[in-house]
Amino acid sequence: MNEVRSVFLRITCPKCRHPHVIFSKASIEVKCRKCNYLLSKSSGGKTKIRAPVQEVVWN
Ligand SMILES: [Zn+2]
Repeated sequence: MNEVRSVFLRITCPKCRHPHVIFSKASIEVKCRKCNYLLSKSSGGKTKIRAPVQEVVWN
């Protein structure tokens, strides 16, 4: 897997399809605002995105 740079990811919640824009290096857990699904999880300094990425938004 490639190293993720400092970008914003446009993702869609796989559970309720609510759109989100999250920072790729967020060191905190990101939950869906609508259904509370865990979208992003930090483990060992790496961010795991648990949703399909629709678009990568470069700074
Ligand atoms: Zn959701």
